[in-house]
Amino acid sequence: MNYQPSVQETFSLIKELVSIPSPSGNTSKVISYVEKFLQENGVVTKRNRKGGLIATVKGTNEKEHRMLTAHVDTLGAMVKEIKSNGRLKLTMIGGFRWNSVEGEYCEIETSSGKIFSGTILMHQTSVHVYKNAGDAPRNDENIEVRIDEKVSSREQVKELGIEVGDFVSFDPRVQITDSGYIKSRHLDDKASVAILLNMIKHIQTEKITLPYTTHFLISNNEEIGYGGNSNITPDTVEYLAVDMGALGDGQSSDEYTVSICVKDSSGPYHYGLRKHLVELAQKNEIGYKVDIYPFYGSDASAAIRSGHDIIHGLIGPGIESSHAFERTHESSILNTQKLIYHYLLSEMVDY
Ligand SMILES: [Zn+2]
Repeated sequence: MNYQPSVQETFSLIKELVSIPSPSGNTSKVISYVEKFLQENGVVTKRNRKGGLIATVKGTNEKEHRMLTAHVDTLGAMVKEIKSNGRLKLTMIGGFRWNSVEGEYCEIETSSGKIFSGTILMHQTSVHVYKNAGDAPRNDENIEVRIDEKVSSREQVKELGIEVGDFVSFDPRVQITDSGYIKSRHLDDKASVAILLNMIKHIQTEKITLPYTTHFLISNNEEIGYGGNSNITPDTVEYLAVDMGALGDGQSSDEYTVSICVKDSSGPYHYGLRKHLVELAQKNEIGYKVDIYPFYGSDASAAIRSGHDIIHGLIGPGIESSHAFERTHESSILNTQKLIYHYLLSEMVDY
């Protein structure tokens, strides 16, 4: 089978996706974008009540289904308090460290849809004023947003229409380098969403018949733990989450291969499916790494925890410095695309 996906096409789709703000809890714009993309490619989609999207491609076997999921929600923040000096205190959405967004440009979206720009800063930023600028803890107390408006009091901020509960999103700062890297916030998990979307486009344009009816769930609450734990049809036998591989000391994943996760905080993934994925990678000369992620849970493990009797797996591109200044290489994207392609055309594992 000769499948040579265009990485450039996937890169430009990633670029578009990361440029649409979508912190968990406020994902309707990006879901509409994905919905339009899928409908233009002739795929039937359905929104769930949580705001996620399910695209279904009919296969030869309509009795046993597969489901693949990737999440479109990202880390972000919410206005926790408007300070008396006109700055904003934040509460985090998802798990990250304040130091990973310190100095980042951001957008504040009011409930009426107005957008204001700002910068996330330590209160004690100016070294000319604060002796402890370097040592002060990066925490909820000291981190604040400087709004790009002439405001110096709570009242003036309120006059702009900014209120407690407004969503704050981080500038992705996406860049594609000549050396084949894409660096951007939110590659977790918009890189995988782009991979799935281009895969569906390929299936549709090439009129490929899949062996099983396959659902693609674009989930929108993964960063807060319950993106893909529902809307799984009773016919779903295999459930594969496509989400980032975690890199760091002691990890085998890298930015050049597809990472096959065999265990994370939730426990081991399905042994049979994991062996099947490794076999597919070997047979098709796909660069892969088998890995264990110490502090990680996926939509597939969330599905298992919520009681679904499924065969669950997790694969994805290797993402450097996850939940911070993320980066991956085109070869990791390519290897992930190829593994998904061969997986979609393969027979289900025995259980
Ligand atoms: Zn993720």
